[in-house]
Amino acid sequence: MYDLARLREEFPVLERCIYLDSASTSQTPVRAVEAMCAYFYEYAANHGRGSHRLARKTTEEYERTRDVLARFLGVTPGTLVFVRNTTEAINLVANGMSWKRGDEVVTTALEHHANLLPWMNLEKRGVRTVVVPHHGGRVDPAEIGGALTERTRLVAITHMTNVLGTVQPVEEVAGIAHDRDVPVLLDAAQSAGHIPFDAGKFDFVAIPGHKGLLGPQGTGVLYASDLSLLSPCCYGGGIVGEVTLDGFSLLPPPARFEAGTPNIPGVIGLGAAIGLVGELGVENIHRHETSLACLAHDGLSALPGVEVYSPRGSPVISFNVRGLSSHACAAELDRRRGICVRSGFHCAQPLAASLHPGGTVRASLGCYTTGEEVSALVETVREIAGSLTG
Ligand code: PLP
Repeated sequence: MYDLARLREEFPVLERCIYLDSASTSQTPVRAVEAMCAYFYEYAANHGRGSHRLARKTTEEYERTRDVLARFLGVTPGTLVFVRNTTEAINLVANGMSWKRGDEVVTTALEHHANLLPWMNLEKRGVRTVVVPHHGGRVDPAEIGGALTERTRLVAITHMTNVLGTVQPVEEVAGIAHDRDVPVLLDAAQSAGHIPFDAGKFDFVAIPGHKGLLGPQGTGVLYASDLSLLSPCCYGGGIVGEVTLDGFSLLPPPARFEAGTPNIPGVIGLGAAIGLVGELGVENIHRHETSLACLAHDGLSALPGVEVYSPRGSPVISFNVRGLSSHACAAELDRRRGICVRSGFHCAQPLAASLHPGGTVRASLGCYTTGEEVSALVETVREIAGSLTG
């Protein structure tokens, strides 16, 4: 039973505004904040670096989140590397794989900059990025198959776009790529915690802690089916077995990828937040968000002077009010009713600019969004559009 009133007690900030920017980052539940407070008030120390009681407790709690995440994703803890965000997870793959001149990465025209720039940046090492077009926000797996050559080293694809909210047929893409022995990186920034999926079907999955998993900012994780395919990009303490002035030996993965003091409170908070996502159930979250998305789509697309770009049922709703810039519309939504939405290119300029040269207004839903909040959005957009025409 999806008890929205009870759920919202976990998010006091929602009493202060209408938060429709969860695609950017989610609100953090009380239980995650409390877990972080407990760390600071009761046992703060460094992770894996000491034998005293506080260090032991810290290490235990930090590693507990890895176990929680592994159970949540249906993978083993040793395949998970903690990072700061989705961007860092993707960069770890881009900079951790061994490339040679002439290699190719196949990606799509739907990507967030985080899943485009790391590949484009490899151009200086002679690696070519091949971009497969989309059709109305969806890529055709056959076109991805057609883009694969004997030089393709990786397919990197988003699960759900952060501009249109369209879901890509990523399992089919993985099947096609794997038939050609090409590994697949899934950008799960918008899907983790929103849509059920099987992480083990992919070679790499980049997951933010701070979006659908409801964790604090500065948390994320990279799943890799075989971490031995990657080399660490960051060297220092916490990742080595033995060091002499002549050399060093690395600890086995995943420790070798987590150099330096990590975001310990964040990771501990993330573990508590995932507990809430697990209680709600991703399937139920998906159902809840989809029904509100239909409500938003139907309401907005019926308004004169409003153009909606996202398809019906997508929990990321991009639109524009004709005659008003996306930024002016977003500012007006906040001013009139405290409605928080994002505007502009959403760090996915190729896709967002193709919809409108000034980008879009983007309302994105979360597990805690209510029908009343969606109605308030539609009503306020109606007022704004109406004020322009007469
Ligand atoms: N990929 C997609 C599809 C996104 O929507 C985002 C952020 O919105 C990112 C990557 C980057 O995420 P992060 O801010 O966690 O690095």
